[in-house]
Amino acid sequence: MEQGGAGRWSDAELHGALARVFGYTAFRPHQIEIVKGILGGHDSLSIMPTGGGKSLCFQLPSHLMDGVCVVISPLISLMKDQVDAACANGLRAAALNSSLSPGEHRAVREALASGELDLLYISPERLSAPGFWEALASWPVSFFAVDEAHCISQWGHDFRPDYLALSGLVERFPQCPVAAFTATATPEVERDILSRLGLREPRLIRASFDRPNLFYHVLPKEEPHAQLLSFLGGHAGESGIVYRSTRRKVEETAAFLQKKGVKAEAYHAGLPDAERMRVQEAFRRDECPVVVATVAFGMGIDKPDVRFVAHLDLPKNVEGYYQETGRAGRDGDPAHCLLLYSAADMAQLLYFARQTEDEEQRSIAEKHAYAMLEYAERSQCRRKALLSYFGEAFEEPNCGGCDVCTGEIQEEDYTIEAQKALSAMVRSGCRFGRVLIMDILMG
Ligand code: ADP
Ligand code: ZN
Repeated sequence: MEQGGAGRWSDAELHGALARVFGYTAFRPHQIEIVKGILGGHDSLSIMPTGGGKSLCFQLPSHLMDGVCVVISPLISLMKDQVDAACANGLRAAALNSSLSPGEHRAVREALASGELDLLYISPERLSAPGFWEALASWPVSFFAVDEAHCISQWGHDFRPDYLALSGLVERFPQCPVAAFTATATPEVERDILSRLGLREPRLIRASFDRPNLFYHVLPKEEPHAQLLSFLGGHAGESGIVYRSTRRKVEETAAFLQKKGVKAEAYHAGLPDAERMRVQEAFRRDECPVVVATVAFGMGIDKPDVRFVAHLDLPKNVEGYYQETGRAGRDGDPAHCLLLYSAADMAQLLYFARQTEDEEQRSIAEKHAYAMLEYAERSQCRRKALLSYFGEAFEEPNCGGCDVCTGEIQEEDYTIEAQKALSAMVRSGCRFGRVLIMDILMG
């Protein structure tokens, strides 16, 4: 098929291709708009929540356009799944990364040179490999898709220096549109993505981040294990993830649950690969309903029926928190997100933030910690707070899906006051003699 300008494909043709290639009857919100932008040669940044259907937005044009769409994706470990999923849809996809044998490498390069691929997945490190830009220029590239584009911003929660190499795309391939995608971007991160990628008159697509089926709940942390057990009592037999901040805590909590007869497994980056794979598979197949994990667990987990996500420690930032809770309820059925919060956790977050050597990084980490504190101690609608963090207004007076709006928080009124007093101490302590205040708070 030959490449064309804007408007070459009618809506009917695009729907036809959607049905033919993917077997779907309708586009999800914003998909057709993004596809048309790419086909029309425009740069774009699309911010859509996890599960919103981002891959289709570049896979469909990759099939319709001449040449290969180069997808930059941060995790080599997930690339195989992405390639397999694309191939299952009948697309011609491959990855180039360090896990390939020399023979496989050669085969992919040959397929590229002879124009036999729709999609090529690469990691950002690839771009810095000697000779790679030149090789890229010798292949018929149709456009670039930058997945997890927030990784290019230091303001994001997942900055990857390798992503900075992507600023070369526009310069070196002025004829190719660049389509950036992310599931999380504050207004600051959004600006950073646009400027660092150097997007030209980009089309901005921002889907709503609201997840109406998620219930948000924050409780003061008293006895985290006992609180977790009582929470799990309301979710017997259901799948869920319990996040903890350290490997040691993960193991303690998993051991505690096992002792109480709950089928739970631990997952963190310190475990051998085979063990992590086993836990992930057991979770996917419903053999192990509860996984207790660090934030290492979740990327690439596409389980639709996760019914709860519980954070027993205060997360480092709102972006990460929102992504982690976002793993619940992808099937659209109700799911519950519990956060346990204590001022000691906050003090600890600040303590770690301040260990960061780089001054800019330190101030970013502190700012993230304060935003998390705002969320946890807030007695206004949690949904409104989360959405406004991502620059989205939520106008409903009552969301009906958080502890504040449903009135549950009232019973805890006294605790909130106590917590506010404590966090005020943390706050003022940050200005005057934090070490002393933190010592007091942390006993
Ligand atoms: P994201 O990358 O935004 O998290 P994915 O691209 O993985 O989301 O898509 C999430 C799921 O939705 C996938 O199972 C995908 O096949 C499905 N999906 C995407 N677009 C559509 C559509 N138009 N109709 C039905 N299902 C879709
Ligand atoms: Zn609410």
